[in-house]
Amino acid sequence: MELYTHAYIVAGSSDDARNLAAALICERGGAEPCGVCAHCRKARAGIHPDIETVTTPRDKRQISIEQARALVATANIAPNEAHARVFILDPADALGVNAQDALLQLLEDPPEHVQLILRTDAPGSLIATVRSRCRVVTGSVAKTVATERVTELADAFLDAARHGAAALTRFSFELEKLDRADVAPFLDELRKRTATLARDYARGDRTVSAEFIATLRRAVGECAEYLEYNVGTPHIAAKLCAELSTD
Ligand SMILES: [Zn+2]
Repeated sequence: MELYTHAYIVAGSSDDARNLAAALICERGGAEPCGVCAHCRKARAGIHPDIETVTTPRDKRQISIEQARALVATANIAPNEAHARVFILDPADALGVNAQDALLQLLEDPPEHVQLILRTDAPGSLIATVRSRCRVVTGSVAKTVATERVTELADAFLDAARHGAAALTRFSFELEKLDRADVAPFLDELRKRTATLARDYARGDRTVSAEFIATLRRAVGECAEYLEYNVGTPHIAAKLCAELSTD
């Protein structure tokens, strides 16, 4: 995953937030922490000097504006060991509007080394100006990346299907590389797209023909069945693409 942002909203558990924090400073720089480098090990033990968690003080229900200001002040200090300094606000919905306002400047113009993670069950409770500056991660980063990959692949498949047999043949090689675990979500995504296409068709949209929709529905259904019988990914990819090749 491209870590192009300085701020994330993690709509998931505290573990998901800590996992992302470790990934952001991991030496390997992937979507998931490698778990073996020094940064990952310290992060897991909860002793990494560049990961700081800000939470509600004991007996309080809110993260105070003073805590938010202290975070902003600390953010300017360079990291100790890692290339980044990560702040986890958990739960971020405990930030009042004033505390969120205090963070805005940091969100708008963060020092290069700063990463912020706002962990919350209710992203909608954060003010819009904060939300618009964060990338939302649902659950784990790995799950979000997988979902993005599957969505992109479904787009690419439908695009290829509209362009005919040659495009589909090229695409089937792409599809063969799909992780086994992603095949079912991919077919699910196609099923949803088919339903949308059918609904649009019923409303008079003729971007695709009724035959195309019917073929797609049948092919996706059959591939889902194949999957249950443990048929390999290349075979499913080939079948899906062959079914939709009409020219
Ligand atoms: Zn690591």
